[in-house]
Amino acid sequence: MLVNTDYLVIGAGASGLAFTDALVAEADVEVTVIDRQRAPGGHWLHAYPFVRLHTPSAYYGVSSLKLGQDRIDQVGENAGYYERATGDEIRAHFAEAALRLIHTGRVRLLTRHEHLGRGSDGERVRDLSTGKLHEITVRRKVVDARYLEGSIPATHAVPFDVAAGARVVPVNDLPVAAQAASSYAVLGSGKTAADACMWLLDNGVEPDRIRWIRPRDAWFYDRRHFQPLEQVGAIMEGISLDAEAAAQAANVDDLFEQLEASGRLVRIDPSWPATMYRGTMLSARELDALRQIADVVRLGRVRRIEADHVILERGETKTGPDMLHVDCTALGLNDAPATPIFQPGRIVLQQVRYLSPCFNAALVGFVEAHRDDDADKNRLCPPHPYPSSIKDWPRTMSCTWIAAGRWLSEPDLSAWVSDSRLNLLRALPDHAAEPSVQTAVTRYLTHVTTAIERLGQLNGSNTPRA
Ligand SMILES: Cc1cc2nc3c(=O)[nH]c(=O)nc-3n(C[C@H](O)[C@H](O)[C@H](O)COP(=O)(O)OP(=O)(O)OC[C@H]3O[C@@H](n4cnc5c(N)ncnc54)[C@H](O)[C@@H]3O)c2cc1C
Repeated sequence: MLVNTDYLVIGAGASGLAFTDALVAEADVEVTVIDRQRAPGGHWLHAYPFVRLHTPSAYYGVSSLKLGQDRIDQVGENAGYYERATGDEIRAHFAEAALRLIHTGRVRLLTRHEHLGRGSDGERVRDLSTGKLHEITVRRKVVDARYLEGSIPATHAVPFDVAAGARVVPVNDLPVAAQAASSYAVLGSGKTAADACMWLLDNGVEPDRIRWIRPRDAWFYDRRHFQPLEQVGAIMEGISLDAEAAAQAANVDDLFEQLEASGRLVRIDPSWPATMYRGTMLSARELDALRQIADVVRLGRVRRIEADHVILERGETKTGPDMLHVDCTALGLNDAPATPIFQPGRIVLQQVRYLSPCFNAALVGFVEAHRDDDADKNRLCPPHPYPSSIKDWPRTMSCTWIAAGRWLSEPDLSAWVSDSRLNLLRALPDHAAEPSVQTAVTRYLTHVTTAIERLGQLNGSNTPRA
């Protein structure tokens, strides 16, 4: 097989497809997207059966194709908020997005193809169906859309030992395995663990039959602050609370106290220090439900699960044959270090605006299409790693605000940002006259400059200049 292409995109997950979608909308180029999996969709192909987006569908996926109908949920823990796609809906979205891209005649998708690195005559790719090696000649750039590839329970190497007789399943198997257990130990601190606990509670398991083994306690956003379109004022309010807290913070602990006091961030147990911050979110109803689980084990990470006890970093706890251990310990977001997004002959997709992987990939596609100089492109798209702990919040927010400030002075880019379906603030101009929106915008503008300076001090360094 002989392939020549302008761009070779490695990875047909959300990032690779959102980038390609934006690039071919803006530039007359040929793109080849490869992925070692059998279909587009990235990690969503292996997601647990009850997974949903934690953000609304309204600003997820590729820009040119809507995901969902922007309905407001009427029942359940998301009632009153915009719909969040299921795994099936997300996979269908990416499958259709890929088909539409192929139908442009300018995009080629090679599934079951793995990128092996640079060869003597081009990029080396193995066809996993036949085992054959090919070299792809790339006229413009190789796009690394797998740099932040996530690690998920269905595919990660379990990071602890399991003795014979211990009952351990990945979260994907919970719905099937749950029936044969009388109690459950959920392992992990993040969104997946919270989802597993919620699934058990929603399926009638009493809270006292659930144990939650949490190596760290986490901060979660209140989902109220991530509602777009008709409720966009709440997003602006959340951002303004961030800016106000950041401008006034004496230190990182004080910052999180302020964010909690304002209702911006929540933790499941307010009496226990939370050190994890990964940018995930819960609704107030989910929070109330999860707070019913009283059996919380805080002895660090699990080392080994025996038939009758669990060995952790800082101690042991009893278990038994009727207890099902549910593995939710995969890292999820990959916290690889930041590297310039635009490099000679190469683009490495990363986070620019926090919590917006699809928007970020599309933004990079737009900038690639409309700017020539790599230094200028990198100025508009300064990358930063996904956050993991509360110490990462200053960097995450200041990088986001600095980048957003730079877009404002570029008319074509700010027009694109305003119109993009993936921009969570897209509807803000339509609501600018609402008093609550005006209050939030004023609060943000009052504090953001001081906030960036203060966060630079808290971060120590590594913050780009505003
Ligand atoms: C459970 C879960 C829920 C989430 N919910 C949300 C949400 O609600 N909102 C939100 O904004 N974000 C959410 N995220 C964040 C999520 O990571 C991103 O939304 C996005 O799906 C990541 O896509 P990606 O393309 O960067 O990575 P991936 O989905 O990991 O895709 C990377 C692709 O690269 C391919 N690949 C890797 N190496 C090679 C190679 N050498 N050759 C060929 N192909 C290769 C892989 O096969 C894979 O398909 C969630 C994440 C998880 C884990």
